[in-house]
Amino acid sequence: MKKRYIPACALLLSLFMTVSVFASSLKDAKKELDSVSKNIEEAKDELTQIEEEKDEVRRQLNAIEKELKAKEDELAAVEKQLIKTQSELETTQQELQATEDELTQTQEELEELRADLDEAIHQAEEQERLNAARLRAMYMNSTASYLELLLESKSLNDLLNRVDMIVQMITYDQQVFENMLLYRDEVEDKKIACEDQEQKILDCLKEIEQKKSELEQKENEIKAAKKHISRQKSEIQTAQTEKEKLMSQLSEEEVRIREELNQMDKESKELEQKIRELTKAEEERRKAEEANKKADRGGSGKSHSSTGMIWPVPGYSHISSPFGYRIHPITKEYRMHKGIDISGVNIKNKPAAAVQDGTVILAQYYGTYGNTVIIDHGGGITSLYAHGSSINVSVGQQVKKGDTVLLIGSTGRSTGPHLHFEVRENGTPVNPLNYVPR
Ligand SMILES: [Zn+2]
Repeated sequence: MKKRYIPACALLLSLFMTVSVFASSLKDAKKELDSVSKNIEEAKDELTQIEEEKDEVRRQLNAIEKELKAKEDELAAVEKQLIKTQSELETTQQELQATEDELTQTQEELEELRADLDEAIHQAEEQERLNAARLRAMYMNSTASYLELLLESKSLNDLLNRVDMIVQMITYDQQVFENMLLYRDEVEDKKIACEDQEQKILDCLKEIEQKKSELEQKENEIKAAKKHISRQKSEIQTAQTEKEKLMSQLSEEEVRIREELNQMDKESKELEQKIRELTKAEEERRKAEEANKKADRGGSGKSHSSTGMIWPVPGYSHISSPFGYRIHPITKEYRMHKGIDISGVNIKNKPAAAVQDGTVILAQYYGTYGNTVIIDHGGGITSLYAHGSSINVSVGQQVKKGDTVLLIGSTGRSTGPHLHFEVRENGTPVNPLNYVPR
């Protein structure tokens, strides 16, 4: 993102200068107004840009919300599918259990039928064997037996009875054997039917197991799909969170820029008012100057430009700190510098000269100024020399232009040897460069 902060110091500067009553001149005020207007334009551009960015982020957020909704629908559909499949799986599981129970029962029945059949076969065989044995015995031992039995008959009636009894005996044996055979066949049929049933159940079981395994596979697939969609959803949610954060940052920035804009609008209005006042003052000053010139031609009064001041440090013209607002090198405070600092190589103990004839009105150590001399040049104009290593004049002394007033040093609040030089009009500091030629 483009850096869009208006440097805080610029704001502070314009604020400070607006609030202060010290805007040094009309030119400065106009320059300030230009600067504030430029800042306002820049802030407006930034605001437009932020609004465009917000629109874009809003569009992205809408798209994300749609995407998220789609994913949620997808997830709900998959969830439904999963529940359906799981319920099917449960039904199938129950079916499987029931079928397995049925199989167990059928197999138990079959076991009994097989035992019954064995018994029936055994009995039929035994009967057959008994019948055969009896017939053989009759044949072997009693070929005569039936005959003897018949011959022993006491009467025809008895004979008939005996014949009848023999026939009944043989018929009974035959009947028992046939019944045995029938019973055996019946059991055999039942056994076959039961085996059929077992096969069918086994087939059914196989089918259900197949179905179960298919459902389990389906369940796994759905779970995998669900996981995938959940992951996608969480990715979208992350993107959403980021965009929302960006949106709130943009909104905060928008608020901040609007506040700045309001502040700058206020400043701008104040500056305009100040410029009007200064313009008026300037006009009055010009009128006064005109009047002075007329008076000059009349032979009295003197203007500042005709004071004929000289530069206070011969051979040193470097200004290390100009007149006006600056960050103080020691206090780091932003404040008005009431004069100019003149410095240079080996300036220590070099003489500072009176810039014009005058009377010394102060010559002493003066707090942060250190060793200080003030000369009154008349007409409300004074010059001040500070941080001296020693003072060469005394209060009340008349000095001539060029006389040494002090030796340059670093007394008072100073970072190194330099001359702090001021010019004041009726006690108010003015830019010395308006008085002394550099
Ligand atoms: Zn200074």
